Amino acid sequence: MEEEGDQEELIPASSLARGAPSARRPRIASVDLSAALSRLAVPGELHERRDGHLRCTACAHRCVLTDGRVGACGVREGRDGGVVAPFGYIARRYVRAVETNTIYHVEPGSKSLTFGMYGCDLRCPYCHNWRLSQALREDVAGEAPIPMTAEALVDEALLAGCRVVCAAYNEPMIAAEWVRAVFEIAKARGLRTMVVSDGNTTPEALAYLRPSTDVFRVDLKGFAPEHYKALGGRIEPVLEAIAEARRLGYWVEVVTLVVPGFNDDAAGLRGLAKKLVAIDPALPWHLNAFQPRYKMADRPAMHPELLVSVAGSAFARGLSFVYVGNVTGTFQELEHTRCPRCHVTVVERKNFTTTENRLDGDACRGCGERIPGLFS
Ligand code: SF4
Repeated sequence: MEEEGDQEELIPASSLARGAPSARRPRIASVDLSAALSRLAVPGELHERRDGHLRCTACAHRCVLTDGRVGACGVREGRDGGVVAPFGYIARRYVRAVETNTIYHVEPGSKSLTFGMYGCDLRCPYCHNWRLSQALREDVAGEAPIPMTAEALVDEALLAGCRVVCAAYNEPMIAAEWVRAVFEIAKARGLRTMVVSDGNTTPEALAYLRPSTDVFRVDLKGFAPEHYKALGGRIEPVLEAIAEARRLGYWVEVVTLVVPGFNDDAAGLRGLAKKLVAIDPALPWHLNAFQPRYKMADRPAMHPELLVSVAGSAFARGLSFVYVGNVTGTFQELEHTRCPRCHVTVVERKNFTTTENRLDGDACRGCGERIPGLFS
């Protein structure tokens, strides 16, 4: 997974009154992360028996999980004839502007408690959160799960004044049962709920999470089969997941991190815009500029000019909301939301934070056009 906003704010201790667990709570003393997660595992619900095999259905890999076998994500495993998955823990949580999740059409200007766990079904060499997502593949020191209840996590969000709870940083769908448990409580207490996913998931997992989940924010990491092959996945399930999520009624936003020498081909990116228009022209598409990191720390940052050009083409092809992020200077104007009818700026942003919201609910004050998304 990649996360683009860097403004991380630990939950202030003052907001953790009334017995909520401390953000600085000591972690459990295990040096073996895999074993620690296995101890936290409970029977999972996302699996199917087909052709005599027990398959996990949390992601598009659909791993066969015989007893004792761990899936490609490193966290779901076969046990006692079923599938178990880690439950009741987090690896990190931060209170941040909702926009730092690269989600622009959901409660702009509000705060989100964003939490993550360990493991991922893909292995992106530019992952911003590789210490979490790749913790089971890399030799990452000092990582251990923080035991947590769903109630305590939602308490923290409310105490910190959040309107949103978001599962991000690693791939949330591989822990869908735990995410659903948190989101059921969050929704019952009036919060919006969002997952930030690599999209390599299944219709079963999307349907499983939908009753408790409002937003599916998905990374679309490339346009060619070789891009996804390099990351350990396939593009088809991701495009299918975007369409299925819209069909199920999730609010969906799509992010493409453009990486020099990897997916920085204008024609290929324009082709992605065409595919998104065919799914839903109201899908916001975020073109984020790569910054050097992890195994691609020696690559240059992505220059914004290509992104601006692709954004223009995407508008011309029919997408109403195209954004350019991780850029500086005048390019930051492409973080704003403009009314698709009268073209006035309705939400201004800078560095993944809303600086001015001129919407009246979800309506443009200039012409009354309703902006699609989830606005209070
Ligand atoms: S979540 Fe994906 S990678 Fe993990 S066990 Fe299930 S199918 Fe395999």
